[in-house]
Amino acid sequence: MRVGFLGLGAIGSPMAAHLARRDELTVWNRTSSRASAFCARYGCRVAATPRELASEAQVVITCLPTSREVEALLQGPDGLEAGLRSGALFIDCTSGDPATSRRVAERLSRYGVAFVDAPVSGGVAAAEAGNLTIMVGADPATFERARPVLAGFGKRIEHLGPVGAGHAMKAVNNALLAVNILALGEGLAALVKAGVSARTAINVLNSSSGRSFVSEVLVPERVLTGSWPRTFRLALLDKDVGIAREILRETGVDGPVIDLVGTLFSRARTELGEQADHLEAIKLIERQAGREIRG
Ligand code: NDP
Repeated sequence: MRVGFLGLGAIGSPMAAHLARRDELTVWNRTSSRASAFCARYGCRVAATPRELASEAQVVITCLPTSREVEALLQGPDGLEAGLRSGALFIDCTSGDPATSRRVAERLSRYGVAFVDAPVSGGVAAAEAGNLTIMVGADPATFERARPVLAGFGKRIEHLGPVGAGHAMKAVNNALLAVNILALGEGLAALVKAGVSARTAINVLNSSSGRSFVSEVLVPERVLTGSWPRTFRLALLDKDVGIAREILRETGVDGPVIDLVGTLFSRARTELGEQADHLEAIKLIERQAGREIRG
């Protein structure tokens, strides 16, 4: 299979690395030195432009910050659209927004190109292990075409519905992640100030009904240790909560909890900047509380 991959960021790189072992891979990255370093390590070809990448590929995969960048890369004389061939499959692994994806899918269908939204979940560790969860929006026949490609880096590959359904699922999942981060940060800060050790509090939560992926994995590994690795930018989670808010608005569902968490994450993004990790929202809670949450 001739696959083209655009967007060798924190999660895109380990995903593409799996494909390099299996497929005939061509990559393109905005910062071209990253693409050269990637191919020197994993063995693949660097395309000079998105157009060149698309002209040689049966499958094109994007993994970019937002749907805006995906749409932008389609356009212009060196854009993907100028190279895509009729019969190609376009898989967008960006955590994007459903409305833009529907627009892009409609546009590509005019060139005989099928579109799938296929955002991923599990973080960089799951991407490295090749066992991401993938949430797919597509018509059934296109989903079946995409499945073997996605199996290159995913384990649970779920068809959620038509184009946009994968992005909607991902946005809601990440809104819940954001809720959990802030709620757990607030609860732990209060417990620590009340005299409970953070490690004991986490152990009790994790054998009780208040547990979550954040309490079981993220906080023990990143907050209690004080290591704060940067694997998933807070700015991207802020974007995801924004998409979830839009979905609630469009469907007429009141969402005061997700709305508030969205407001708090946007504020955290302003305070902490574009490079901060998503867990660093807890640093703002620590700052206000005047105490660190450490094991
Ligand atoms: P990063 O910020 O690490 O990487 C972004 C990638 O997009 C880089 O390759 C960057 O290129 C490229 N890029 C940024 N802006 C542009 C642009 N204007 N034109 C072309 N290319 C551009 O993001 P991640 O890899 O972390 O995330 C990618 C997607 O996956 C996001 O939608 C995110 O929400 C989602 N995701 C991320 C997870 C994670 O754990 N990191 C987990 C699950 C989903 P350059 O090298 O030049 O900066």
